[in-house]
Amino acid sequence: MSSLFPALTDDPSGRPALRFGERSLTYAELASAAGDVGARVRGEERVAVWATPSLETAVAVVGVLLAGVAAVPLNPKSGDKELAHILGDSAPGAVLAAPGDELPGALDGLSRIDVGTGAGRGGPGAAAPVAGARPGEEDPALVVYTSGTTGPPKGAVVPRRAIATTLDALADAWQWTADDVLVHGLPLFHVHGLVLGILGPLRRGGAVVHLGRFDTQGVTRELGGGASMLFGVPTMYHRIAEALPGDPALAGALAGARLLVSGSAALPVHDHERIAAATGRRVIERYGMTETLMNTSVRADAEPRPGTVGVPLPGVELRLVDEDGSAVEAYDGESVGEIQVRGPNLFTEYLNRPDATAAAFTPDGWFRTGDVAVRDPDGWVRIVGRKATDLIKSGGYKIGAGEIENALLEHPGVREAAVTGEPDADLGERIVAWIVPVDPASPPAEGELADHVARRLAPHKRPRVVRHLDALPRNDMGKIMKRALPS
Ligand code: ATP
Ligand code: MG
Repeated sequence: MSSLFPALTDDPSGRPALRFGERSLTYAELASAAGDVGARVRGEERVAVWATPSLETAVAVVGVLLAGVAAVPLNPKSGDKELAHILGDSAPGAVLAAPGDELPGALDGLSRIDVGTGAGRGGPGAAAPVAGARPGEEDPALVVYTSGTTGPPKGAVVPRRAIATTLDALADAWQWTADDVLVHGLPLFHVHGLVLGILGPLRRGGAVVHLGRFDTQGVTRELGGGASMLFGVPTMYHRIAEALPGDPALAGALAGARLLVSGSAALPVHDHERIAAATGRRVIERYGMTETLMNTSVRADAEPRPGTVGVPLPGVELRLVDEDGSAVEAYDGESVGEIQVRGPNLFTEYLNRPDATAAAFTPDGWFRTGDVAVRDPDGWVRIVGRKATDLIKSGGYKIGAGEIENALLEHPGVREAAVTGEPDADLGERIVAWIVPVDPASPPAEGELADHVARRLAPHKRPRVVRHLDALPRNDMGKIMKRALPS
């Protein structure tokens, strides 16, 4: 197949590729540094990458891909137990890290390769694929461990073909070009931060500015300074929505951006609306998974609507399937089904888990996402939530947690909300609202919240029980971990 990074050449024009804080690399420098890494890992099957948010991580992954080897990004915040699980499962031949990084004991048995980022060592031709590397499009590029939101992380084997096709589909949907400069504040060990946030701009020939740690000042500085796109998770847009009323510079910077994109979890409607009101810009949502890379997105030339993830990307087939396995044909915004997808964006398998791989596909080759959705009359997909935790069966109704969470977040006394179902002798399941009150000393009363939801949605969607927490359990992508709620 053609190279994953056609722009990665020893072009001497000084075109910028990556910037992390004060440190940056041009395409020629990146080609040289990644070429060095590639030469050192050639012949391995898989290598681990200690995926701090750094220039070294980006260089390491690009170098590994140039060599036709698969990269296993490690979350540096993982505990020893999780690291041991991932290393035992993926059996990498080495670990790549930045020279000063201290690695935990769980990595002791692995040989370490320090990643250099110095420019000018590669000489002419350093950008060419690493000698001897002729990866095929079905060869594994990444083994990415899922977020573990619903169970222990599984290693999704992502082939080169999936990365190329998903990034090109996003380029089509987002009119993404070499002129775009992305502002990035996400970790680099998941698909969102690594594939979309690093490999995406590099495939287009554009640039990335990584904020290190996300903060709204960095967003103001970089978008205000000419960057064109922001990729974030909903917790980041929530922080932006909270900051906007007191920060006209942030509002101005967002107003000037070409594209604001949210993904990895549902963007609360309340935050979407507050950002739109303060900036005149609507955040667009895309929907993806480790196993499928990207499935749907709002297109850059469409008028975004809150609460929807847009339409299937080019090449992606999407259907909704009810519990009997029959296709849900209705486009009425009401009829719920599991999202199943098919297309060149899909992973190959879960590493060492033929059972889980087989269970994830239907006999006719559709991937079962475990997410449930409805479709608007024109086909736009609205995610209701996860089949396992967000679909509540109460009093004969199937109720999605997401719309109740959205309604609760519109109450002035509610800062964060998560909705679950728990067994109820009468109703089958009753709706439970977990809220973080704005003022813990005087949280909104249970009856008031129930009425608030009933008025906005329907009486049968009102929470029967309201529980207060200081914070919701979230993982490092800011996703709510419903299975970690106290029982
Ligand atoms: P695990 O599979 O280990 O339980 P996970 O599913 O959270 O973890 P990821 O693959 O990182 O791991 O996340 C994919 C999931 O994130 C999707 O299945 C979906 O539930 C959710 N998601 C992603 N984008 C969106 C979005 N725009 N709106 C709503 N949900 C989203
Ligand atoms: Mg999942």
